[in-house]
Amino acid sequence: MNHQIIWNEIGPTGRLLAVPGKQVVMVIHVNPDGDALGSALGLMLLMDKIGHNGTVISPNQYPGFLKWMPGSDRIIVLEESPEVAVACIRQADILFALDFNELKRVKKLNEAFIGASAHKVLIDHHPGPDMDADCILSDTSASSTAELVYRFIQEAGLHAQMDKDIASCLFTGIMTDTGCFSYNSSRKKTWEVVAEMLDYGIEKDRLYDLTYDNYSADRMRLLGFSLHEKMEVFPEYHTGIIWLTREDLKKFNYEVGDTEGFVNYPLSIKGIRFSALFIEKENHVRISFRSKGDFAVNEFSRKYFNGGGHANASGGESYMSLEKTLEQFRELLPVYQDKLRNYEL
Ligand code: 5GP
Ligand code: MN
Repeated sequence: MNHQIIWNEIGPTGRLLAVPGKQVVMVIHVNPDGDALGSALGLMLLMDKIGHNGTVISPNQYPGFLKWMPGSDRIIVLEESPEVAVACIRQADILFALDFNELKRVKKLNEAFIGASAHKVLIDHHPGPDMDADCILSDTSASSTAELVYRFIQEAGLHAQMDKDIASCLFTGIMTDTGCFSYNSSRKKTWEVVAEMLDYGIEKDRLYDLTYDNYSADRMRLLGFSLHEKMEVFPEYHTGIIWLTREDLKKFNYEVGDTEGFVNYPLSIKGIRFSALFIEKENHVRISFRSKGDFAVNEFSRKYFNGGGHANASGGESYMSLEKTLEQFRELLPVYQDKLRNYEL
């Protein structure tokens, strides 16, 4: 696994933040998850506290089950308010790019981001950052971007301004990106950061409850349907997949975020170490990949499905029909037969 660390000197960013009244804009990736939202909202609340004007911009709507997060009602969604979002980026003094490693991930915010005259800071834990920024804090061994945001806050000398809401946002980022501490969380550093969040007064059990016991009945029924009707297991390749059509989603009154986490379920089957979730969208098929061990799903996704991400968690897109996409995927399994078979659980 790649443990590349780029940790630029944050002096210039620190000096800019020392002068109050700056427009500070946090940009997150499309289909934002708990880590992207937690990192951005935590930083936004901190910026407000130290006298700046913090704003979070998301390319599209974020999951309903995360709407309880402090400050989330202030998020500007590009798809809903394109002019406001682009104007914010143009007027920004400091732009934070959080939880993504290439500008393709911010979709239509791409051009505005490149054209912005702001001081740009990338904080991320995906391998191989591939974008320009004045300051890059990249560490693939970190559990989450939220953990790195806390490191940034410490190194910028801003930790005295931490509070319960900011800590709750950062903790939620760490919790969601580690599957509640089931992976990417074997480093002492992660637990030290969590311990400090407890010192800031977070209510850990409540944050768990708000995040994971906050689904609609329709979402739970969609999950049941997916596992019962739409899961295919390939024991010989240690692989399990789930696919959902637009019709399936409609039947269960789909809302943004409802399929979040579905891709992990096949990995709970004994012997399964590679899973994929295919969701039919209007013009493409959105795919999530997960693996256990050394089968690198980011490389797989980059090679065949226009995507990328982490070695054990990645995403991609296919521009063929769902049926053809599934056919392509099934045909690829024998190609990876040796890699998929030679793994000790
Ligand atoms: P998810 O399956 O949850 O959408 O994504 C899993 C991981 O892969 C996340 O860390 C996400 O940021 C990353 N990811 C998803 N899609 C893409 C993509 O198209 N390109 C890249 N570079 N990363 C992606
Ligand atoms: Mn992340």
